Amino acid sequence: MRVESGGDEPSPQLLDHWGRVAADLRLSVTDRCNLRCSYCLPEDADSWIPRQDLLTPAEIGRLTQVALSLGIRKVRLTGGEPLLRPDLAEIIHQIHQAFIQAGMPADIALTTNAIGLASRLDSLTAAGLGRINISLDTLDPERYFALAKRNRFPEVATALDKLPGSVLKPIKLNSVILNQQSLEEIPELVRFALRRDFQWRAIEFMPIGPLGDSAATRPHARDILARLQECFSLTPIETDPAAPARRWNVAAGSDHPAGIIGVIASESAPFCSTCDRTRLSADGKVYSCLFSLSFVDLLTPLRQGASNDELAQLWLTAQAAKPAGHREIAGAGRRTYSLSQIGG
Ligand code: SAM
Repeated sequence: MRVESGGDEPSPQLLDHWGRVAADLRLSVTDRCNLRCSYCLPEDADSWIPRQDLLTPAEIGRLTQVALSLGIRKVRLTGGEPLLRPDLAEIIHQIHQAFIQAGMPADIALTTNAIGLASRLDSLTAAGLGRINISLDTLDPERYFALAKRNRFPEVATALDKLPGSVLKPIKLNSVILNQQSLEEIPELVRFALRRDFQWRAIEFMPIGPLGDSAATRPHARDILARLQECFSLTPIETDPAAPARRWNVAAGSDHPAGIIGVIASESAPFCSTCDRTRLSADGKVYSCLFSLSFVDLLTPLRQGASNDELAQLWLTAQAAKPAGHREIAGAGRRTYSLSQIGG
């Protein structure tokens, strides 16, 4: 089957066996991270993608062209920690160029821990970055150190102060709700976000990574919502069924403006049936699901001179095999990767 079709031939889409179509590409640019959050990347992690196997900015540009030809409409950069790539602005530029060549509005987002972001914000936005999610589980520097095993909170705080003046919209602050202490900290995180015009989102712990087996005993969305309702006046917002977060408008209070918050209930209310994501790892492997243990390699054929059509065929095959839901994989008792390996 030809992929870059002309005439009236319909463009192929990243359709899976369950009828879902992928439109959202999660693109990991590295599996390395400068934090060691015990639930994601333990201190003794020691197996990294060899540097020569990381996709270059030009290769990312090529694979984005292929993805856009298959119906992808937005690209989110993740990792590992994307800011560890010194060439991140060039990567964004290449993706931006691919959108322009395809005649499509660029939708490029970044998920980051914000360490070192302040000094790079201008170059990343100039290259075409449009949206950003900051991962931050606590505002307490001591708890930050206890969770992330690195004393980098001051650098994160500097970036959070600079972000409101940037062109990025929306800015989301994502916090994984790990335990009772996280539940207690919710009001402070929400007020902090609303005062900066950020959207705050709670993320339910997922059964993936080194502490994945403990997911069932961690707070669920209902606990998070109960805590939110104790402190804020919430009105539900109609959401796109493919969106991972349920969202609420928060009414203004005496010490915070109005704003938007969300809860991502990947565990207690999985959104697998409407999932529209496809994933590309930092070494060019397509994973159809975050929990997949199988992949299709695009790096080798790309470096051996495969055409865009041939790469597209491989991507279509990988996506067709997307599992119905992540419970089918996690429930099978097999060890799943950490989010930092595939790209969270
Ligand atoms: N380094 C970037 C960052 O910090 O945003 C991107 C990668 S990081 C793996 C992406 C997100 O995955 C972080 O918010 C992290 O807290 C989250 N994460 C990792 N393991 C998780 C788990 N088991 N359940 C829920 N979220 C998890």
